[in-house]
Amino acid sequence: MGKDALLEVKNLKKHFSLGKERILKAVDGVSFQIKKGETFGIVGESGCGKSTAGRTIIGLYDRTEGEVIYEGENVHKMTGKERFAFQRKMQMIFQDPYASLNPRSTVREIISEPMEVHGLYPDKKERLERIYQLLEDVGLNRDHANRYPHEFSGGQRQRIGIARALSLDPEFIIADEPISALDVSVQAQVVNLLKDLQRKKGLTFLFIAHDLSMVKHISDRIGVMYLGNLVEQTASTNLYKNPLHPYTQALLSAIPIPDPDVEDRRERMILKGELPSPINPPSGCVFKTRCPLAMDACQTVKPEWQEAEADHFVACHLYNKDTDGRQKYSQAMGIK
Ligand code: SF4
Repeated sequence: MGKDALLEVKNLKKHFSLGKERILKAVDGVSFQIKKGETFGIVGESGCGKSTAGRTIIGLYDRTEGEVIYEGENVHKMTGKERFAFQRKMQMIFQDPYASLNPRSTVREIISEPMEVHGLYPDKKERLERIYQLLEDVGLNRDHANRYPHEFSGGQRQRIGIARALSLDPEFIIADEPISALDVSVQAQVVNLLKDLQRKKGLTFLFIAHDLSMVKHISDRIGVMYLGNLVEQTASTNLYKNPLHPYTQALLSAIPIPDPDVEDRRERMILKGELPSPINPPSGCVFKTRCPLAMDACQTVKPEWQEAEADHFVACHLYNKDTDGRQKYSQAMGIK
């Protein structure tokens, strides 16, 4: 484990048995580390396994294989008091703020519940003050405490979900598509709120999303996920400047550039076909059925996860120094 890593995920797999020997390989061998205070983004299409990865990391799902190490301790081996203490340290914000809030509870009850379970702020007055403070921290106010979730807009409901996640004073937050159910106009506000809270409270984030354009604003590093596998990982700025994997290049080329001249001139890389089923994933490279640069080796050999340049990892034969991949890539892209 790297000496600064707060969380280390090692070859994590989460498979679901569907009976009759059918196995859904939602997460199929994912590894990464997250340093204290940073935001690591996981991005990929819906169905790529990113949410399952988040839920397995926090322990909502048991893992099939691999390890999740938090502050040196194996999350899936924790029991009793150790597990209970870990729940305070790592919290989750969910995608659908409406579904994740009990419609019959007031905001005060929703935020209070985790504190009651963990025996925090036993004095009722102090707990209420804490709830008011949390509401203010997320841009709401104390008058909101006695209202019900349906009385709020989508953005406000997500703020309540964030206040609930913060109620135990966690160190680490897994934000599972926290903005994708919100109007575009509200998405940036919630992202800015999360950035603000991170700065003030020293939080570490795993930010899961399908939209690369928003992930870039919050993440220090990004991992790109495809069909249960990480295919590329590097610093956020580098991923945008120098994407290596054909899948990342296709995702980036779908983002509009707010300059009409550049937008008119640039070439798009359109992804063809659907994401294959994780029940029967392709052999060799998982991206081969949609990759415009697939070559013979891609049909049968799974590309290794390798460091193509400093702190820039990719799983693609094009970057394997032992094959003619780079040459073929350069030819295909017209690079001399
Ligand atoms: Fe495309 Fe082959 Fe690279 Fe997979 S390994 S992304 S199929 S070139």
